[in-house]
Amino acid sequence: MKYDIHCHLTNKEYSNPNTIITECEKNNISIILNGLDYEDNEKVLEFSKTYSNVHASLGMHPTNIFDSKIINQIIKNKDKIISIGEVGIDYKEGVDETQLINFRKIIQLAEKLSKPLIIHSRNAEKEVINELISIQVPAILHCFTGKKKLLKEALNNPNIYFSIPANIKYSQQFQDLVKEIQIEKLLCETDSPYLWKECMNTPLNVIYSYEKISQLKGISIPECEDLIEKTVKTVFKLSNI
Ligand SMILES: [Zn+2]
Repeated sequence: MKYDIHCHLTNKEYSNPNTIITECEKNNISIILNGLDYEDNEKVLEFSKTYSNVHASLGMHPTNIFDSKIINQIIKNKDKIISIGEVGIDYKEGVDETQLINFRKIIQLAEKLSKPLIIHSRNAEKEVINELISIQVPAILHCFTGKKKLLKEALNNPNIYFSIPANIKYSQQFQDLVKEIQIEKLLCETDSPYLWKECMNTPLNVIYSYEKISQLKGISIPECEDLIEKTVKTVFKLSNI
């Protein structure tokens, strides 16, 4: 089984998400849908209820308004979700202290509910890694683009994992990143519908993450699949999918 642990099939750009999910099922791909705000989280829950190969991760994008309504939504649905995300810090538009404060609240919530976190960081990799120093649950950095020194710090943290997007197919930066990280800390994603240049991105493209990782690690794709499945099951506490 392959896993796209970070995608947004709820995005309005998709006219046929159900077909994509069925196609994924045929190709043995499981999907973790990541919510970005309250309404999006509701859609994520709906899909996960309908399809056995879809799992729910509820979150709030750091540039969206922090809302206690979302915290309550996560708590209320804690038994229906396998992680919290997409959350994080995004300083693309400048430093915003409230994002840091909100991120701390989210970390506390994840620890209280014992759920892993799927984390977005943009121009704030240092801040994110600092906040994760003593985290008690798995923290997955999605599309990590931090500098070497920060990567070293992150690699020393036993609870930090890295999720590698399908566009590793084109990206030398992600290929170099994978070379530095042991396979036990790697997961795969597409961030659909984003990060793709050929056509509309979908979780079906997650195969490119697996292809490139297996190539770079000198192992077969089935071997790569097995190792990553083991990590998925450990991180998300999934006994069997
Ligand atoms: Zn995302």
